[in-house]
Amino acid sequence: MAGLTIDNVTKIFEDDDGEIVAIDDVSIDVADEEFLVLVGPSGCGKSTLLRMIAGLETVTSGTISLGDEIINDVKPQYLDVAMVFQSYALYPHMSVRGNMAFGLEESTALSDDEIDQQVTESAEMMEIADLLDRKPSELSGGQQQRVALGRAIVRDPEVFLMDEPLANLDAKLRAQMRTELQRLQEDLGVTTIYVTHDQTEAMTMGDRIAILNDGRLQQIGDPLTCYHQPANQFVAGFIGEPAMNFFAMDVEGDRLVGERFEYPLTDALGAAVEGRDAVTFGIRPEDIRFGGAAGEHAFEMDVDVVEPKGDENIVHLRLADADDEYGAHVSEERSPDAFVATISGMESVEAGESIVATIPPTAIHLFDATTGEAIH
Ligand code: ATP
Repeated sequence: MAGLTIDNVTKIFEDDDGEIVAIDDVSIDVADEEFLVLVGPSGCGKSTLLRMIAGLETVTSGTISLGDEIINDVKPQYLDVAMVFQSYALYPHMSVRGNMAFGLEESTALSDDEIDQQVTESAEMMEIADLLDRKPSELSGGQQQRVALGRAIVRDPEVFLMDEPLANLDAKLRAQMRTELQRLQEDLGVTTIYVTHDQTEAMTMGDRIAILNDGRLQQIGDPLTCYHQPANQFVAGFIGEPAMNFFAMDVEGDRLVGERFEYPLTDALGAAVEGRDAVTFGIRPEDIRFGGAAGEHAFEMDVDVVEPKGDENIVHLRLADADDEYGAHVSEERSPDAFVATISGMESVEAGESIVATIPPTAIHLFDATTGEAIH
């Protein structure tokens, strides 16, 4: 078993229009037996980084090491890693048994009996032993996905590389497979790098998560640290569902002044904004409290739209004295007087109702207005 080190790695693609920097000076240490999730929006470079580790893509600069060995130029077939793709990539003309045995036949000196035994063991682990003689076309999506995982397990690799392996499954199966995969990874103790664009998947599966945007590493840490102490506005907005509310605010004396509301500073917030003219103010939907009387940090708001989710309600709010200039309602671009809050599904609130919403000073996040770096 081995850890994996990604050291100052950059990947530049050249095409007719010029250069695309897909990965920009990324360094990550993945510990032996760790489950690391690489997460970020579409196009941020996740697959490119994974493919470089797998030897499927060249490294422009920097080094990738498995244990003590630099593997930049090692061909995929000589690397002790197993990759699982979203597309499963099973050979359609081979049986499940054939698919699972293929890698072993190619790369090991095991006898047919030994290969058969390993395939059977891995198939039992993935609960597909009764499907060994079927062709991929005779399997459901979920079963094909198990075969793809079984094929990775049977090789007993030092590292698993998984590129959105659950993306094609329906929500229920995906949730079930997440748990199963985690248990499997723990049992096998194989260092795993798992790529997803789904922040929920990242939060629930990873020992640590590495968040990428525009080819750059934004933050790496355990999921709760990234949630509670985001390194910058990108991470704050990416982790958490619904996304954090953000407002551009000027610093004026002992208060923050936004386009549509003012927020008195506490000592702690005042210290954080000292010497600044402007900040970005952030509050998570789940930190907004309903009820009580209007006050310094409590605002009268109108309920615009309620989205019931069962266990919770997502509530779209607007400041009560707002006119219709910003008729944003449920839109991607939130207007400067619109908030999203979540409350328990047990609490009932209806569109058109007037409520008081408290924005607790202890729950406020502040970011540099220009760089987006977290300052509080
Ligand atoms: P997704 O979640 O959509 O798969 P991703 O985060 O995995 O996205 P990559 O596929 O790694 O992103 O792509 C990163 C960037 O590199 C993108 O801008 C993409 O267009 C570019 N890119 C990827 N492969 C190539 C290639 N072979 N040639 C040129 N550009 C490429």
